[in-house]
Amino acid sequence: MMSRFTIDLHNHSCLSPCGSLEQSPSVMARRAKEMGIDMMALTDHNNTGNLPAFEKCCKTEGIIPVFGLEVTTQEEVHVVCLFSTLNKAMEFGRYIEFLLPDIPNIPELFGDQVIVDADENIEGLVEKNLLSSTEISFETLIEEVLSNDGLAIPAHIDRLAFSVTSQLGFLPDLNYSAVEVVNYPTRHQTYENTIIRSSDAHYPDDIGKRVSYIESERLDFSVLKEALEYHRIMLS
Ligand SMILES: [Zn+2]
Ligand SMILES: [Zn+2]
Repeated sequence: MMSRFTIDLHNHSCLSPCGSLEQSPSVMARRAKEMGIDMMALTDHNNTGNLPAFEKCCKTEGIIPVFGLEVTTQEEVHVVCLFSTLNKAMEFGRYIEFLLPDIPNIPELFGDQVIVDADENIEGLVEKNLLSSTEISFETLIEEVLSNDGLAIPAHIDRLAFSVTSQLGFLPDLNYSAVEVVNYPTRHQTYENTIIRSSDAHYPDDIGKRVSYIESERLDFSVLKEALEYHRIMLS
């Protein structure tokens, strides 16, 4: 039997300096449940430290977790990168951490970067400023993510800041898993790519404010991957 699943593939936790401190993985998973979200991704800026707690909290609430991060490239372009397993995402996270310059965060200016466990106990603070650009080019990042079996999705391409359009002036015709827009329909060039919309939530109230849909018999990462590849995503 076919079901219509709600997916939200771009969200930040309290680890992102711009994310609210209330935005713990447990609050996120509870809010997602309330909003009827079936599959949710955690995509903090340039770090994967809250993914282990996110996995546990999603399990508690019956949400299908997708593990990722939002990488800032050399050109200051944001790209949502998603992986098939927690381990693959954590491994890619370590690679990105290594490519992030050694500029310390100033919490008073940029906000806290908090790693928590599933019960909201603080496990640590990330010292490098996660809003810096990493030393990886847009094109190389897309290739690296795809070669690790991941999904590479240029984020909010219709935004005036930190988007491929704002930073490069156009969307290079590469092999993306999808492109993310804030407003749909869009007047931006998207070529033949599948278009998705996601919340990009930094506060609990924003979770589920923009979602996409998949009609399928079941839902997991491979179903998601196939739906993106064959343009089987519906938008509201
Ligand atoms: Zn972004
Ligand atoms: Zn974001």
